[in-house]
Amino acid sequence: MKKIYLVVPCYNEEEVLCETAKRLELKMKTLIDNKDINEYSRVIFVDDGSKDKTWSIIEELKNNNELFGGIKLSRNRGHQNALLAGLMTVKDECDAVISLDADLQDDINVIDKFIEKFYEGCEVVYGVRSDRKSDTFFKRSTAQGFYKVIKFLGVDIIYNHADYRLMSRKALDSLAEFKEVNLFLRGIVPLVGFKSDIVSYERNERFAGESKYPLKKMISFAFEGITSFSVKPIRLVLVMGIIMFFSSLTALAYFLVTWINGYTVQGWTTVVASIWMLGGIQLLCLGVIGEYVGKIYIEVKSRPKYIIDQFIIKSEEK
Ligand code: UDP
Ligand code: MG
Repeated sequence: MKKIYLVVPCYNEEEVLCETAKRLELKMKTLIDNKDINEYSRVIFVDDGSKDKTWSIIEELKNNNELFGGIKLSRNRGHQNALLAGLMTVKDECDAVISLDADLQDDINVIDKFIEKFYEGCEVVYGVRSDRKSDTFFKRSTAQGFYKVIKFLGVDIIYNHADYRLMSRKALDSLAEFKEVNLFLRGIVPLVGFKSDIVSYERNERFAGESKYPLKKMISFAFEGITSFSVKPIRLVLVMGIIMFFSSLTALAYFLVTWINGYTVQGWTTVVASIWMLGGIQLLCLGVIGEYVGKIYIEVKSRPKYIIDQFIIKSEEK
């Protein structure tokens, strides 16, 4: 029997936490009773610098039930960092970790299948949404657009997979080798490799509370994903430069012909238009390159991705 940990990042989740804990407790109890996992398996909540009562709820859960544990980050670092903090903190304590969101939008009954695949020898099991019915039209179409763009740019990520997955200790040890600060776990995990499989499930709506991913965060997350994993945008800048160069040669030929024919005074529109257009393209290219330079700047500083304030868990010795 293996020891499985669940890692649940939480940011201002006081409205859902008690219910989530109740459901997870039931799930874990059934798994333990069925001898799918051993009795030392735990549920670890990672408090990502919440401003509400999240941490005190976690402390209370831990005090009342040895199943629960908690990690408190020193401040809000965002979902990806909170998740990584959880994974890296518990990886040496257990055989595999399943990560899931605090709002239980991801069907927890799939955990059985995750564990089944793990016993079959998979080091990574991805939870994949079978549909996006519970999403708004806007979220659905932007998400699909994102997957198309990222695929076009040559990044290998699993379609419709969020961060609901099982990773074995071996896979987590390898994940720890990826030192990048610009964190996009969905892109990094497939790079880890090993035998993996997919389990599909239907995603529900949040049963309480609001999404902590407003549009602004979602766009920057998508942008982060693209620029952390692909240098194709820079290459497109080069392609654009080449196209501009050849079109300017054609334009030059045209200008020479008009000059020979004596029509040189006209053409104010062409001059002005090309100045604006070229200026625009140059700024755009500078922006794209600047984005990568910025990324390098952040990477070289290699600041810690998270700082742990407290880790509370009931030890195994009784
Ligand atoms: N989350 C976090 N830090 C943040 C934002 C979100 O740890 O800065 C957690 C949040 O508590 C939840 C998970 O990340 O458990 C996913 O967030 P949410 O459900 O709001 O995103 P959505 O499902 O709407 O994409
Ligand atoms: Mg959610």
